[in-house]
Amino acid sequence: MKNKFKTLLRKIRRMGFKIKEEPEIDDPVCGMEIADDFTSSEYKGVKYYFCSENCKMDFESNPSKYLD
Ligand SMILES: [Zn+2]
Repeated sequence: MKNKFKTLLRKIRRMGFKIKEEPEIDDPVCGMEIADDFTSSEYKGVKYYFCSENCKMDFESNPSKYLD
């Protein structure tokens, strides 16, 4: 389901449309691309997605470490 959503987003982007609320689909902790069944966290109004609860906890304990 979520993979289909990603594919759709790519298609829309390729057609030249700008998507305002583009979800962050790479795990900022381990860099893995999130496929399915992910967990998310909100930091400074931005939603981040994680491959596992472990990555989410790492991120939440020190968000600035994983963001530029
Ligand atoms: Zn991860």
